[in-house]
Amino acid sequence: MFCIGFGQDSHKFADNGKALVLGGVVFTGQRGFVAHSDGDVVLHALFNALSGAIGGESIGYYFPDKEESNRNRDSKEFITFALSLVEEKGFKIGNIDINIEAAQPKITPRAVEMKQALSDLLSIKFEQIAIKATSGEGLTAFGRGEGVQVLVSVLLEKIIS
Ligand SMILES: [Zn+2]
Repeated sequence: MFCIGFGQDSHKFADNGKALVLGGVVFTGQRGFVAHSDGDVVLHALFNALSGAIGGESIGYYFPDKEESNRNRDSKEFITFALSLVEEKGFKIGNIDINIEAAQPKITPRAVEMKQALSDLLSIKFEQIAIKATSGEGLTAFGRGEGVQVLVSVLLEKIIS
């Protein structure tokens, strides 16, 4: 059996001294996000896709903004949790397709690094992950460089019934 999941998240840039982290990769010299956690919008959208594929809830349900323990938290910990839910239900990841809308930073030059970081985090092959980026052509808040939006689809395969 296969299950598909779809996730979305977006964050707004701010001059708050936070580092910009996307897919576990730090982009130096860039503004970070308004976020309670580290604001890794790629990992948050991925969380929502993984959770959605197994009929779960969005990230805020498991890791509320109001909880002090989640302040500046490394989003990789959220993904480790999502992965445990996926494995408990007897699934493994088939493939992940990540789509990023951002005028800045430029994603494509760092996409290989991001895929490597994600394949390490998820214990899957580099080839199972796609990262595509669009500048947004100035049409949306993301396309005007005010923040970043990420859309992710995930396919899960049932290995234990
Ligand atoms: Zn988020």
